[in-house]
Amino acid sequence: MERIQAVRGMNDILPGEIGWWQQVEEAARRIFQDFGYVEIRTPVLEKLELFTRSIGENTDIVEKEMYAFPDRKGEWLALRPEATASIVRSFIQNDLYADPLARKFYSMGPMFRHERPQKGRYRQFHQVDVEAFGIDDPMLDAEIMFMLRLFLQKVGLAGVGLHINSLGCRDCRKSYRESLRVFLASQAEGLCPDCLRRREVNPLRVLDCKVERCKTVLETAPVLLETLCDPCRDHFSRVQDYLSRLDTPFAVDPRMVRGLDYYMRTTFEVVTDRLGAQSAVGGGGRYNGLIRDLGGPDLPGIGFAVGMERLVLLLQQQGGMPRRNARFFVATLGSAAREEGFLLVQRLRSAGIGAELDYEGRSLKSQMRRADKLGARFVFILGEDELGRGEIQLRDMREKNQRIVPLGEAVRHARTLPTG
Ligand code: ATP
Ligand code: MG
Repeated sequence: MERIQAVRGMNDILPGEIGWWQQVEEAARRIFQDFGYVEIRTPVLEKLELFTRSIGENTDIVEKEMYAFPDRKGEWLALRPEATASIVRSFIQNDLYADPLARKFYSMGPMFRHERPQKGRYRQFHQVDVEAFGIDDPMLDAEIMFMLRLFLQKVGLAGVGLHINSLGCRDCRKSYRESLRVFLASQAEGLCPDCLRRREVNPLRVLDCKVERCKTVLETAPVLLETLCDPCRDHFSRVQDYLSRLDTPFAVDPRMVRGLDYYMRTTFEVVTDRLGAQSAVGGGGRYNGLIRDLGGPDLPGIGFAVGMERLVLLLQQQGGMPRRNARFFVATLGSAAREEGFLLVQRLRSAGIGAELDYEGRSLKSQMRRADKLGARFVFILGEDELGRGEIQLRDMREKNQRIVPLGEAVRHARTLPTG
């Protein structure tokens, strides 16, 4: 029979790498909850309009990358390309803003973008996502970047940089857009066809173009950061001040704009030089105005998303896959011992102690090999003799020592052993 393949750019996450994923997910839950965030889960499918209205019509995501299609009734839907719009939609639809204590959310799950698949870039990928609504204070901007850094540290990622910028507000962007338009009008030669179109409809989007010749042109473009209005300038300088006081190193990158229209004021990216062109591990920023534009109250918002595939790739490059196998293995010799061993494994598991056994009745030697392969720290060994005496051998595979414990005490004894 011909085999059926997965859809291009959409990957299985296999047992050989799942340890990384679980480590990332567990660290995210623990840390975000410590910072007062609660989990929210939204559907992967939304009305297309949610994304065109929030992310912006003239962005790469909406123009080129979205999985959008009419359903059987002809209603246009889209697989979510990112999480912020969905969480804001849910926040508004479910009147969550009525509870001032529940305004910080995190979420994890698959996103979909029709891009050219390559290392670190897929068509289904996963994000860890964080959103905080209702707080405009630069304290929160700094805190959220501090939390992002702490999260990456806790999962063990080394050597990434934090780049920050301010995109100003509607007011200071108005005059900037005009000077950028004038500049781009004088650059007809160097721009790609997309940018030639965008410089009219949405000139700021040209700043995010990935085409080399556009990037060269943009090196001499006017810089938004230099023309911020006073409140935006003050906000940004206070963000930097808090970051310094939180010992969070950062670099100001005045050319970073991010690929979504809804960002304003603080934007940031975590970058690496170890994934080729896929240099962004995560990014985010402020989006005051988005909640209102999607029909909700006029509350400010800020958030970020980290790409889990890129994070896992970097952790893999660093080596040392976290092992999550059973800590205990029960090896037996002879059929009566095997029956008893089977029961012991279930008793260990019921007591919350991971344990494994050999179901195929193989030799003691091959059972020990299996225990070793699984990475079990401890092995209970039960033969007919031990069984007759009501005892069991306990081997510490790391310390390479062995002792005898009463069979009836096996679970109680297992509880006292080191978990490392
Ligand atoms: P890039 O510039 O690499 O296309 P982006 O700016 O489009 O990234 P965001 O929309 O900010 O990315 O999404 C946040 C994170 O999600 C990225 O930093 C990245 O780690 C991850 N990500 C985005 N697109 C993909 C993809 N197609 N495959 C895997 N991860 C992705
Ligand atoms: Mg992209």
